[in-house]
Amino acid sequence: MSNELAAARIQRRGLMLVLSSPSGAGKTTLSRLLLQHDRDIELSVSVTTRAKRPAERDGVDYSFIDHDTFRAMVERDELLEYAQVFDHSYGTPRGPVERTLSAGRDMLFDIDWQGTQQLVERARQDLVSIFILPPSTEELERRLVSRAQDPPEVVARRMAKAADEMSHWAEYDYVIVNEQVDQSLELVKAILTAERLKRYRQVGLSDFVKSLRAGR
Ligand code: 5GP
Repeated sequence: MSNELAAARIQRRGLMLVLSSPSGAGKTTLSRLLLQHDRDIELSVSVTTRAKRPAERDGVDYSFIDHDTFRAMVERDELLEYAQVFDHSYGTPRGPVERTLSAGRDMLFDIDWQGTQQLVERARQDLVSIFILPPSTEELERRLVSRAQDPPEVVARRMAKAADEMSHWAEYDYVIVNEQVDQSLELVKAILTAERLKRYRQVGLSDFVKSLRAGR
């Protein structure tokens, strides 16, 4: 049997890949690169009540919404998870995730540890979580300052919060210290490749093996 035929008979159940880190550890760059390199994964675009940064695009990086709209989405149970981060609300719209996974494609989530905990409770089997650490405190601060998208007082608060966020590293399946973004990208791709091959994600495998054994 050719590989194409086998691939048609073994379909894959999509997975949810979570990347978390303190702000400035390089997670956003890493996510962007992964999305460029891998056509089988797409970004879950979160809703947020925070103001748009100059370089961001509404509907691409986030959907920027007001507090009333956010509350209404929570009440209608339209968010798969949501949390308060730095005085703003963030949440993952449920619809796109369900559509993507059931089409056998993967979804990438750039969410914090609070959201990850909620996804662990709701979808443990589908979830693969990676925590990204900066190589040093100095480097973290340098990245936050050079990003220059936030005022200095916001940078100071994010630095203070980083220590807190990093305390959650042990709740994740994998941990990557992000020294070189290209190397980190290779590591994320390796994790994704292995996780896609997990036996229980390969729907139809048991029928496929039966047919192999029967010589069909
Ligand atoms: P930023 O404002 O810098 O884009 O994001 C601040 C933090 O909120 C980051 O740690 C980011 O991962 C997290 N975040 C973004 N979207 C969501 C979401 O939908 N849910 C949760 N729980 N966290 C989010």
